[in-house]
Amino acid sequence: MHIPPQPGAQRGIPSLTVPAQSPAYPTPKTARAIRRFASQNPPPSPQPEAEQALIPTQEIPSTLRFCVTTPPAPAAAKPARPVATVATPTQPLVPFGYHGSVGPPLPQISFEIVAECPHTRARAGLLHTPHGVIETPVFMPVGTQATVKGLTQRDLAEDLGVAILLANTYHLYLRPGHELIRQMGGLHQFMSWPNAILTDSGGFQVFSLSGLRKIDEQGVVFNSHLNGDRHAFTPESIVDVQLAYGSDIQMVLDECPEYPVSHEYARQSMQRTVRWATQANRHFLSRIAQSPTRHALFPIVQGSMFPDLRRECATALADLDTDGYAIGGLSVGEPRPLSLEVVEATEDILPRSRPRYAMGVGMPAELPEYVARGVDMMDCVLPSRNARNGYLFTSEGRVIIKHARYKDDARPLDPNCPCYTCRTYSRAYLRHLFQAGEILFSVLATRHNVQRYLDIMREIRDAIRSGSFPEYLRCARAASPEAG
Ligand SMILES: [Zn+2]
Repeated sequence: MHIPPQPGAQRGIPSLTVPAQSPAYPTPKTARAIRRFASQNPPPSPQPEAEQALIPTQEIPSTLRFCVTTPPAPAAAKPARPVATVATPTQPLVPFGYHGSVGPPLPQISFEIVAECPHTRARAGLLHTPHGVIETPVFMPVGTQATVKGLTQRDLAEDLGVAILLANTYHLYLRPGHELIRQMGGLHQFMSWPNAILTDSGGFQVFSLSGLRKIDEQGVVFNSHLNGDRHAFTPESIVDVQLAYGSDIQMVLDECPEYPVSHEYARQSMQRTVRWATQANRHFLSRIAQSPTRHALFPIVQGSMFPDLRRECATALADLDTDGYAIGGLSVGEPRPLSLEVVEATEDILPRSRPRYAMGVGMPAELPEYVARGVDMMDCVLPSRNARNGYLFTSEGRVIIKHARYKDDARPLDPNCPCYTCRTYSRAYLRHLFQAGEILFSVLATRHNVQRYLDIMREIRDAIRSGSFPEYLRCARAASPEAG
């Protein structure tokens, strides 16, 4: 594939070269479940014509991780499963507020810029939500199953100062189900989380199912990776699911193509994403028009790694005049510099007055690079997932805790870190916990890694406000990518 010169270089923003990243979703465990299910439940054959036309199986390498390639089943396969759909609910929306308290109508979610870097595209701002004001640029820890693995809500809200969490629409829809969450008072009350919640659309997960889903203009039908039940997502139903959750910030249903894909397929896919975003936004506006609750809906810029398609998509989505914009289709196996390039391609098109959210990024050294390209919000599973695997991010570089050199190391994990783990335990003790397979290791390691990400974002915000962000960026680049 032709990769044009990086616009970043033209603007004096050198590219970052870091190792390729694994896809953020699904997790290896989920991928195993998908493969197991696929082997036991081959899809019905023949496939509908629409699916055959729209899924470019010839252009997706079979070596892509997490892609399930299942041979067609005989024509006399078992009868089709019923498809579960989300009916437009007649119940009122979830009452606003922590523990379900109902208050007066609140101001809409809004964003204000408090400082801008004159040399890069970085800006510091305040994102006002019904569940608190969020200082941006912000990193959002990922709570896939309405929990950040290894941490309590008190750890997150009170000790770490997390202002906004990400939860996963697809996983919570399948289990425990959006209707149950609605009955429990919404996601904030269900998980006892006092601050803001952003939910993704589920598009990334559904399209990761590969052979277990089919797409047409109405939406996507897929088989649950848990039990094989068939479900349908439409642009409208995903809005209703997220309203049942009471999410402060919702994402529209989008198609997230694998990498690489052809320009033609990426164009078709991007145009469908724009049509879905238009439908979703229309439905969202009608649903919230008479509601006392306050939410925002972000459409998602797609277009694979083609800057021209990204710009076309951003231009179309900007016309929707939504409360913010997400940039999706990142961390799908592409080289890291390419991720930065496609983010930069749309920076001057997306409205300056709205927050921009780069989905699923990145490594610590990349955080200031995205901020330098105008990104205000980011999320990634890396700090929590890597923590559980013994990969720790410190201000002095990475620490692979299983290495023998830490066996009798009495120093704290990171002497510059204020977290409970670093104030209390030695590297030797952490290594012992890891080697022994103790649960406490995951708890302590996750606590530290999330703290490290939050500290980086705090440093970035301070640097933008004080006018020293270019110097901060230079120092970050001077350090090795692993120094994050
Ligand atoms: Zn620490």
